[in-house]
Amino acid sequence: MRLVNYERDGQERPGVIVNDFGDILDIQSVMPDMASMNDFVDAGYEAVDLLAGHLMQSKDKGAVIPAASARLLAPIARPHRNIFCVGKNYHEHAKEFHDSGFDASAGKDAIPEHPIIFSKSFTTVIGPNEPIPASADWTNSVDYEAELAVVIGRGGRNITKNDAYEQVFGYMIVNDVTSRTRQRQHKQWFIGKNFDGFCPMGPWLVTADEVGNVEELQVTARVNGELRQCALVRDLIFDIPTLIETLSRAMTLRSGDIIATGTPAGVGIGFDPPKFLKPGDRVSISITKLGTLENPVA
Ligand code: MG
Repeated sequence: MRLVNYERDGQERPGVIVNDFGDILDIQSVMPDMASMNDFVDAGYEAVDLLAGHLMQSKDKGAVIPAASARLLAPIARPHRNIFCVGKNYHEHAKEFHDSGFDASAGKDAIPEHPIIFSKSFTTVIGPNEPIPASADWTNSVDYEAELAVVIGRGGRNITKNDAYEQVFGYMIVNDVTSRTRQRQHKQWFIGKNFDGFCPMGPWLVTADEVGNVEELQVTARVNGELRQCALVRDLIFDIPTLIETLSRAMTLRSGDIIATGTPAGVGIGFDPPKFLKPGDRVSISITKLGTLENPVA
């Protein structure tokens, strides 16, 4: 099921894609309690099953919105709390970052021994086609990072690797946009990762049952049509069960929590000289089954 958060007539509403044209069934028209995507994710797979039942019969009821008359927003436009992110989680990227001179966290080894976790504030979130505000970074060092994001369903504490996938509600694309100079200068990555608008997200939140084996998904990023990143999720250094186990050993995971799993090789600082984003560029990120997230750069 491809879930969306959309705007129509100035109102933000949760919906579900009903066909290949991208037409949307308004979720509240069949489930009035679901005022936001957060409500829907909180209600979990029971809500998904209920919605699936409505989908079978609702097409003639006038609740379907044509794609052209809706604007897609970030699927979870206002997360309950910060987005958890993983640094240096693909071998080739860990090496390119280590070698770039921008990695102030680096010890002598490129490959981390334990997952590197940081967070992005929910104020970074923007939707598909919204401009990435690169000009807000006065050091002109804005970079893209195509990533698979996991959305937690039930959550809890001390979740083991074996049980981890049972806690996953679904998946979506995020772009972990970063000011490389700010990331390096402040040692901790928080400021470089947390400019307003530095987390494009979408276009859909796809439920886990529809994704199947997540390790087979391919992550690609293009800038102005040029292929920059391409990798399989199976190449993660720390896989999704390991990330869920690691986080939930320390803290209670909650429904709606988002974990951005890290980016593959091919970011701008992997090139010599670096290829930073500039106004007028277009970043396009695709993941198998999760669609394409496109954003202009401003
Ligand atoms: Mg990242």
